[in-house]
Amino acid sequence: MSRSVLVTGGNRGIGLAIARAFADAGDKVAITYRSGEPPAGFLAVKCDITDAEQVEQAYKEIEDQHGPVEVLVANAGVTKDQLLMRMSEEDFTSVIDTNLTGTFRVVKRANRGMLRAKKGRVILISSVVGLLGSAGQANYAASKAALVGFARSLARELGSRNLTFNVVAPGFVDTDMTKVLTDEQRQNIVSQVPLGRYAQPEEIAATVRFLASDDASYITGAVIPVDGGLGMGH
Ligand code: NDP
Repeated sequence: MSRSVLVTGGNRGIGLAIARAFADAGDKVAITYRSGEPPAGFLAVKCDITDAEQVEQAYKEIEDQHGPVEVLVANAGVTKDQLLMRMSEEDFTSVIDTNLTGTFRVVKRANRGMLRAKKGRVILISSVVGLLGSAGQANYAASKAALVGFARSLARELGSRNLTFNVVAPGFVDTDMTKVLTDEQRQNIVSQVPLGRYAQPEEIAATVRFLASDDASYITGAVIPVDGGLGMGH
C-alpha cells in the first residue's frame, strides 16, 4: 500500500535517509527543503517551518499531488550551541521556533487530514540530548525534551481517533550537524557510547519506518532511543 509520507528537512542527513527508506518501500514521499537543489526522486516542496504561510502552501502542494499526508516525520531541526552566559535570546528562541514550534506547525496541519481519514502516524525526531542534557546546548536540549511532552499529550488527545505519536531519540549521527564537532569532541562522545561509534542515518530511518508500519500499530507515546546505548536509563 502506497501512503502519502512527508519528511520535513528531507533534503539531507537523517531526513534524506528516512525519505529514501519510505520511497524504497513504495510510499509516495514528499520532502521539504529551504534552498539549493533538492535530491531527485521525491516531491520536493520549498518550506521553512518557521513560517506558517509556507507550511500551509507546502501542504496544499503535497495534498494536490499525493493526497492528504498519512505519515508525518517531523525531522527538520537546528542547533545554535553556546554556553548559557553567552547565549543570546535570539539563539534560544530561534532554536525553539524551529525545533518545537516548527514541529507544532507541521503536526497541527497534518492532523487535519489525519482526523478526516481516522488514521495517521506522526513521528518526531528528538535527540538523546533532550533527556541527558548537554553543556552548551541548553536551547537545543530544551527544544528536544519538549517534543516528548508534545507527542505524549497528542497521543492522549488523539489516540481515540486512531492517530499515533511517537518520538525517536537518536544519539550522535554522521551528518552535517555533527561534522562541526572537533576530533577531540568526537572522540570524547564515542568513548561514552557503548557501541563505540556514531550512527549512520539509515539506522535512524529503519526505526522511523518501523514506527510507521503495521507492526507498530499499538505503539503510541513512546520514546525510542537509537543511540548506541549512550542514553541508557534515561
Ligand atoms: P542536518 O543539519 O544535516 O539537516 C537538518 C535538516 O533540517 C535540513 O534538511 C534542513 O534544511 C532542515 N531545517 C533546518 N531548519 C529548518 C527550517 N527552519 N525549516 C525547514 N527545514 C529546516 O541535520 P541532521 O540530519 O543531523 O538532523 C536531522 C534531525 O535529527 C534534527 O532534528 C536533529 O536535531 C536530529 N538529531 C540529529 C543528530 C545528529 O547527531 N546528527 C542526533 C540527534 C538528533 P536545509 O537543508 O534547508 O538547511
